[in-house]
Amino acid sequence: MNTIRIQDIIDKILEVRKNADIESIQRAYVYSAAMHAGQVRLSGEPYLMHPLATAYTLAEMRMDEATICAGLLHDTVEDTAATLEDIKLRFGDEVANIVDGVTKISQISFESKEEAQAENIRKMILAMAEDIRVLMVKLADRLHNMCTLEFQKPHKQKLIAQETMDIYAPLANRLGLHRIKLRLEDLSFMYLKPDVYSQMTDWLESNRTAEQQYIDKITGLLREMLDDLGIKGEIKGRIKHKYSIYKKMVQQGLTLDQVYDIIAFRVIVDEVRQCYAMLGQVHAAWNPIQGRFKDYISMPKANMYQSLHTTVVGPGGERFEIQIRTRDMDYLAEHGVASHWIYKEGGRIKGKDAKQFQWLQELLDWQKMESDSREFMRSLRFDMFKDEIYVFTPRGDVKELPEGATPVDFAYAIHSKVGDTCVGAKVNGRLVPINSPLENSSTVEIITDPNRHPSRDWLKFVKTARARTRIQNFIRTEERNRSVTLGREILEKQGRRLGVNVAKMKDSELAELAKDLFFKSTEEMFSAIGYSRITPRRVLKRFLPKAEEAAGVVEENKTENAEQARRSEGIVIKGVDDVLVRFAGCCNPVPGDPIVGYISRGRGITVHTSDCKSVAKMEPERLVPVYWEGHEGKPYPARIHVLVRNVKGVMGKVSSLLADHDVNIDSGSLRSLVDGKTEITLTIEVHDAAHLYQTLQALQKLDVVLEVNRITS
Ligand code: MN
Repeated sequence: MNTIRIQDIIDKILEVRKNADIESIQRAYVYSAAMHAGQVRLSGEPYLMHPLATAYTLAEMRMDEATICAGLLHDTVEDTAATLEDIKLRFGDEVANIVDGVTKISQISFESKEEAQAENIRKMILAMAEDIRVLMVKLADRLHNMCTLEFQKPHKQKLIAQETMDIYAPLANRLGLHRIKLRLEDLSFMYLKPDVYSQMTDWLESNRTAEQQYIDKITGLLREMLDDLGIKGEIKGRIKHKYSIYKKMVQQGLTLDQVYDIIAFRVIVDEVRQCYAMLGQVHAAWNPIQGRFKDYISMPKANMYQSLHTTVVGPGGERFEIQIRTRDMDYLAEHGVASHWIYKEGGRIKGKDAKQFQWLQELLDWQKMESDSREFMRSLRFDMFKDEIYVFTPRGDVKELPEGATPVDFAYAIHSKVGDTCVGAKVNGRLVPINSPLENSSTVEIITDPNRHPSRDWLKFVKTARARTRIQNFIRTEERNRSVTLGREILEKQGRRLGVNVAKMKDSELAELAKDLFFKSTEEMFSAIGYSRITPRRVLKRFLPKAEEAAGVVEENKTENAEQARRSEGIVIKGVDDVLVRFAGCCNPVPGDPIVGYISRGRGITVHTSDCKSVAKMEPERLVPVYWEGHEGKPYPARIHVLVRNVKGVMGKVSSLLADHDVNIDSGSLRSLVDGKTEITLTIEVHDAAHLYQTLQALQKLDVVLEVNRITS
């Protein structure tokens, strides 16, 4: 970047607004220069170059005078003797508030933990919602920092570039600041993938002449088409940005010389109907590639972007992209939606503009809900990165979702209640599983059942932060409730083994126990036992010397009625939906198996089969009796070994027998042994132990099968 002078900024402002308040800009410049006097950047340049560059970018973005002043002053409070009070006095509340917002979010330490960074991002979202101009200054500031990143230490370069790629480029995109977004992406790309970047630069450089000839040729043909239609228009041809090319390589698994559409054309006309006329002409001359045509004119993007996009097969068989739009649309695409309304509302998002900023409102809601900062960062990256799709409700309302979103995401986008009770979906009238990715412009109808609720499995496929957060909140509440009942049960059953009758204790006695152990309530004590943060023995310690003698007696009495005793001592396992219960992967118990529970620290109960080898190695203190109840016929995984003769079609025989017995194969592997035998290891899904053993018996009867075993450790 060339050295920027204050006069360059003033000229830029006057280009757009003849009567702009230049005096305030000049004062801000003088003040900033005085405050930063003597400071130098890592590059060795005077520090003042940085606020000047930031302000210049803001002038290019056609921001108002307050924002440009704030750009000039944005580092004074943080890095110089200047105070916010002083800025308020000299430049007014508006400028001071923007500077304050920028100062609050610029204290990011790149070495800091993910949590600390998440906190900073939260602050940024809050400041943005207060006044969106804070983000404009931050983006301009970041752009200059990226331009001068070469002077930072290498490991910092990577961290800053990664953050720019994850957070700032997507935010610029959301605001429709296309040019800034592309520059931020290419600069980050250069530091994140230096090898690929320089390879690409060399490659593009060595093909430069051919590329330019190609651009000239296609531009000429497009010009003829416009002439045929009698339309006056502008045609621009360019090599795509490096990061866009790289994304294409990764997405489609291509090498550099396999990426054909590295060149893009833009046709700019005066009227909307001319856009469609030109599109018709282009499609008549060159075949469009299926699935690449997008009509953002009739369906603008969330950031208001409008244009027709198509990719065609050109005269020599090469693919290239053409964008067709009007002058107004082009202006908006270049400068973003911000420049339109920033004067009207003074940075606040109000009225009809608010709708374009629904994403900001959602970010705001969700940063309040999501307390886990790792999760917050993860979803933030995910949500902002994705391309959007547009799907319709049966009434014709449009919902914007990230690519790959499922009916569950859609259901949560309508209302959290709809999401919570979603059981199925119809896409364009056809029933689909709730985890199937939605296609652009489908109509989606959600089927709900008031008795159903979110499942942990949904987290594996949902794509929106909104859905993810709601589901997690639901599970957390469930877990908490369950931990209380589970904790009470564990205390009662383990108490019985230790000779303490907890069931007979009064509420006041329990409350006293809780208080002595510094719990806020009895519930909290139960919850801690449920999560295994404290053992029943510790809770009941004061009763123990006497009780442990009595324990022997209890053991002896146990024989009277086996079933009754089991029920009174065991903890009820409600099956796969039981939130604080998990099934051990070593032995894969299924309903009907004799089982035992292991109280694992902080995670509730892990259920093993009674004969599982790992149980023998566990602390006996933490084992509890458990029994099955109400498993609702849901599938459970079980692992089996099948030893077969190595003949043709043997796998087909095994799998069709399993299908006949209503058994799904989840995964499997084959191993050839010597002497013409093959060992098949399968993970299958069964309803219960009876189902499993019937299946094993049937397998045993197959002529090709030599031996069948269940794997239980
Ligand atoms: Mn700065």
